[in-house]
Amino acid sequence: MPNSVSRRDFLARFAAAGAVVSASGLLTACGGGGAPTTAAACEGYASVAPADLQIRQTFQYVDQTPNAAQNCANCASYIAPAGEGACGGCKLFAGPVVANGYCTGWAAMPAA
Ligand code: SF4
Repeated sequence: MPNSVSRRDFLARFAAAGAVVSASGLLTACGGGGAPTTAAACEGYASVAPADLQIRQTFQYVDQTPNAAQNCANCASYIAPAGEGACGGCKLFAGPVVANGYCTGWAAMPAA
């Protein structure tokens, strides 16, 4: 399954992200409790359910990656935009992500 994330992988990543957040308090540092960073270059989060926003926040998604070598566009979970002007997506949570975004669920895209 080179381009899919299994339920086990998702749960493992989700648990790992939660552990990081709990251990370091980074949720507060990235705006925890407030509005999550929006994918402003896309459609924003108006149509994303609060529970899905919470998952996104747990993964600490940001529109601008802090590490040039790791971004959504080269992540195994990235869903490329369906057409010009459309937003990309992520297999780990609902809502738009941008190609140069990043979250703690990043995993290298398998070699083609
Ligand atoms: S870096 Fe995070 S938000 Fe971006 S595609 Fe990968 S798992 Fe999804």
